[in-house]
Order: sequence, then C-alpha cells, then structure tokens
Amino acid sequence: MLSDTEFLRLLPKAELHCHFIATMRVTTLQELTGKHGIPLRTDDLDELLDYEGLPDFLDVFHAAQQAMRDPADISRVAYEGVVDAVRAGNLRYREYFVNPDNFAELGVDYPTLIDALVDGFDRAERELGVGYRLIAAINRSLGPETAVAMVETVIAHPHPAVVGIGQDYLTPELTEDPLRFRDAYQLAERHGLRLTAHVGETIGASPRNVRDAIEVLHVERIDHGYRVVDDPEALAAARDAGVAFTCTPHSTHELSAWELEPDHRIAQMVRAGLRVTIATDDAVFFKTDIGREYTVALAQMGVGIEDAARIARAGFEAAWCDEATKTRLLADADGLIAALTAAREG
Ligand SMILES: [Zn+2]
Repeated sequence: MLSDTEFLRLLPKAELHCHFIATMRVTTLQELTGKHGIPLRTDDLDELLDYEGLPDFLDVFHAAQQAMRDPADISRVAYEGVVDAVRAGNLRYREYFVNPDNFAELGVDYPTLIDALVDGFDRAERELGVGYRLIAAINRSLGPETAVAMVETVIAHPHPAVVGIGQDYLTPELTEDPLRFRDAYQLAERHGLRLTAHVGETIGASPRNVRDAIEVLHVERIDHGYRVVDDPEALAAARDAGVAFTCTPHSTHELSAWELEPDHRIAQMVRAGLRVTIATDDAVFFKTDIGREYTVALAQMGVGIEDAARIARAGFEAAWCDEATKTRLLADADGLIAALTAAREG
C-alpha cells in the first residue's frame, strides 16, 4: 500500500510559479560564482541558505543572478533544475518567470537568453518528458517605463516558448501597486500574451490589489493572491471568474512567517473553492522543492489527499501551453492519479 507521503510526492505536478534563477542547484551556484569571482557569505552550502534576515537571502539571490552570464551555464541550470524537480516531486510541466532586464544588465541580450533557456529545457523535455513555457517577468523595482520597454522587446522577438508576462521584485517603495504597470499589461494584452501578476502577497497588500489585477490589468492568473480571503466579495468575484491562483506555501513561511497550519490563507482559499495551484516560488533558495510543497506543506495545512490530487490536476488545467499539449498532459496525469489512488487504497 502506498503511504500518503509517497502518494503526494508521486502525484504528477505542473508548477506555474517558479522563478528561474531560484532553480539553480546550490552546488552549481558555488561553482559559477567561483568561476566569475563573485563572493558568497560562506562556503558551507547549508549555512549559506540559512538566512538571518532578508538581506542574507537577497545576497544569495543576487550572487546567483550575477553568476548567470554564459549561455552554456544558463542552459545547464535550466536542465539541472528539471532533473532535480522530477526526482523531488514528479514534475511533469513547469512555467518559469524569467527576467530579461536582469540578464541584459549582465550582457545577455533577450534572444540569447531565450535560446539558452530553450536549449536546456528542450534537452530536459527530450530526456524526461517535462514540458515547459516561459513568462517574461517585469522587474517592478525598475518602474513602469522599463516594464513597457521589456514587453516591447518580447513582442519584437516572438518565440513559441514565451507565452506571457508576469512580475518579480517589488516597487522601490516595496509595494505591489499593480496599476503602476497598466501600460505594459495593455501592450502585452494587445499582442496576445497571457497575463499574470504577483499581488495580494506582501505586508500592506490588500484584496484591492487582487481585484485591480483582475479587473484592470485583465490577468487570468494570480501569483500568490492570499489577501483575497480578507474580502468575501473579491473572493466570490475571483471564484466566479475562474481565476487560477499559484500559491507557494513555504515562501509564505519564509517571507511572511506564516505558520503552515489549517488556518493558513492557502488552506482557506482551497476550502473556499478557488482554483488553487501549488508551486515553489524560489525553490532552492527557500530550501524547498515541488515535492515538499505537497508532502509537507499541504499536509501541515490540513489539505486532504483528494484535494491535493485536485490541486495537482488544477496546475495542468491552468497551464499556458497549447491545447493539444494540455490534453496530453492531463490524460497522462489522470492515468497516473488513478493508478496512485488504486495503489494507496491497495
Ligand atoms: Zn514569485
């Protein structure tokens, strides 16, 4: 008989909220920072990921970004991240936030960046059958004009793997302020790109941010979105509109110190019938992986086995791949979920 933990680990997973940089294997981080002479706080890799506070985390994050200068290294990181996630939690499909402005600053232009990523992810897809798409991320700290310019770059270099836009970082005032980026979203929408936004996550965020993203920016998915449970009207509107939420349990614990317990906002969102999907956000840098988000976080939040299977399936349903790919992924997922369910009931 299959244990609940093994059932959760083996569930086929589609991860929709994953920042590419944070999929870097920590030993690769050490190697690439060494290659480029970028200092790390410590050589002890366990200690490196034990943060005293946000500055420690940002140090590691920036070091990882700084180390990604060579296309071959970018391809390697892409490939290794998939290998690790398959092992950790049976990843079958993933969408990555990739930040073109951060790479451009290091001399890696947009077409070079996309080619390098596609090279690594295609290899992983050939060998492991894990599908993928890319989402260009607006660096909110760089302001609305840079965001528009970034979207213009994406539009000027269309690539079938790049399907939409999203966000990372925060505004310089450390807010979410989705409406600040309205022009970039309108431009992306006019050119048929899919839209998602990081809202309703941070201290000071409100359900209003979630509503603004849906009603004004016209996003079809929300990354995080936890504050939606504080406003029954916003919650009902999101549920009726079928908006999918990409929720990242361990990152809420790391960044907001929320306990993973049945009262957690993600558990409330599941109980309220929202389309919740589960992801890692910054996997390696939060010492988590897609398996652990199910086997540890969902379990601690009191989400049952049937709901976990439904959540896993929701990840495929809310994916931005083409319909033929989605149909195939869902059929494979349904077959495996049925087999796992039978093995568990043994
Ligand atoms: Zn995120």
